[in-house]
Amino acid sequence: MPFHDVGSICYYSFDNLDENKVLNATFTRRGGISPPPWASLNMGGLRGDDPERVYANRVTAFNSVGRQPESVFDVWQVHGNSVICTKAPRAYGKPHQKADAIFTDHPEITLFMRFADCVPILLFDPRKKVIGLVHAGWQGTVNKLVSEALDAISAQYGCAHGDIMAAIGPSICPDHYSVGEEVVNKVKSEFGKDAETLINEREGRYHFNLWEANRLLLESKGIKDIFVSNICTACNLNDWYSHRGEAGHTGRFGVIMALPG
Ligand SMILES: [Zn+2]
Repeated sequence: MPFHDVGSICYYSFDNLDENKVLNATFTRRGGISPPPWASLNMGGLRGDDPERVYANRVTAFNSVGRQPESVFDVWQVHGNSVICTKAPRAYGKPHQKADAIFTDHPEITLFMRFADCVPILLFDPRKKVIGLVHAGWQGTVNKLVSEALDAISAQYGCAHGDIMAAIGPSICPDHYSVGEEVVNKVKSEFGKDAETLINEREGRYHFNLWEANRLLLESKGIKDIFVSNICTACNLNDWYSHRGEAGHTGRFGVIMALPG
């Protein structure tokens, strides 16, 4: 079963990563201390919730999977194309760097990102023992962030793309994700004929399939082992935060990854 209960905490994990003993937890919104509209395991510090509650939620989540909160490496996610390969945790109180893809080959580091509709992409190279997290909204998707991230880890760690396993986590489904003309035009110019399968027009609205777009990007880089959770954040508001599904008044759920020690 992909869902795990630890006390009041409930998280989702991917079989292909679990089988390789890569710690991966996509935390549902259950089991934290934040009140509505962030109820309850809100990990997002910039959404109006009390920072002390957000920090307490993070500590609870990390403890539930046996990781020290001080082992965290996280960034300020800005819908850009920066990739960071880190050798050290982010020291407590040190400012966040801006990035939307983070990697490490150090087992003592816990990679951590926050989501509410954008696509979490988890990556693992079992040969080079490298893990990574990517945050791809529509901008990261049309700007092919995951492709750039894969090129970056080839250069940094010598990863061969054919070795890499990928997982696409809970995020917004195409039915819930209508987009404007600007996004449609970008998808057409960046994805060529694949845009026909990625954009669906219904009742005068365009719907963008972020899951399939990122799956295609991974596949085009030579990745064969791709697991898609097919879980929509907006369809399942009891489990996940959804920026679209809750009209912006919501929190962020956390995703963490760590290499086996
Ligand atoms: Zn949905």
